[in-house]
Amino acid sequence: MSFASKVKNEVSKLELEEICCTRSELVGIICFGAQIFGDIIKINTEHECVAMRMCTLLERLYNYKTEPAKSPSGIYTVAVCGADALKFLRDMRLASVPIRLDDEIIRRPCCKSAVARGAFLGSGSVSDPEKGYHLELVTGYYTLCKDFANILEYFGVGSKFINRKGNYVFYIKDSQQIQDFLAAIGAHSQMMEFVNVKIEKEVRNATNRLVNCETANAGKTAEAAVIQAMAIRHIDSKIGLESLPPQLVEVARLRLENAEASMGELAAKIGMTKSGVNHRMRKILKIAKELT
Ligand SMILES: [Zn+2]
Repeated sequence: MSFASKVKNEVSKLELEEICCTRSELVGIICFGAQIFGDIIKINTEHECVAMRMCTLLERLYNYKTEPAKSPSGIYTVAVCGADALKFLRDMRLASVPIRLDDEIIRRPCCKSAVARGAFLGSGSVSDPEKGYHLELVTGYYTLCKDFANILEYFGVGSKFINRKGNYVFYIKDSQQIQDFLAAIGAHSQMMEFVNVKIEKEVRNATNRLVNCETANAGKTAEAAVIQAMAIRHIDSKIGLESLPPQLVEVARLRLENAEASMGELAAKIGMTKSGVNHRMRKILKIAKELT
């Protein structure tokens, strides 16, 4: 299952606590995932969890019972037509043109989260963090882009949007901001997963740089010390420091206790040669790398 699907699965199962957010989430799904033609609201999605969530929201809000229809190609459709659709659109403040996100729908912080969650369910995608950092949301309505940008900004997420074939695409490429967005929509497990992969990548990249650089010059001492400490903490969190051979534990502890010391200074503290300490440190880095 793709990372984006995991996020959708997680947030589509969140408890619906407040009626205000139930409505706001439905607004998000409709504005970003559905189409409104006159008195028809219709969503086509490849994600069963999104179609089911839309049905749950409709039932909870309006006591309207419906089920997704599945096409042979695996697309789920939920549609509401006629007087019901008009009534619901009015209640969601989506009945008038141009379409905007009404203040009433987005005023409370809980509802801002809910709109963003609905938007992600409706059209969101996010790369597997192992491959890269890119999250995007697509809407057909230019008039609500600014309202939505304000919601993202409220969560500290700066986004850009571009016009792509008549649709408006919000995209976020900063890993910290993707993390903040996932937290804002309530995808806490996947946010943790995202953070873990990100840390592992950082450790792997940093140790690679250091392992490949045999002679770290003096100017690089501080950076090297930080990377070494990071690698050591990574080993500790994965398998426990004590599972290393004793001579490596000694050097690892020494580094953690002397965050800024050069390799020469560390060597002096335990009466070893600098190249001896270097040799042990390289082994530690190699182990850290293998654990990512
Ligand atoms: Zn709310």
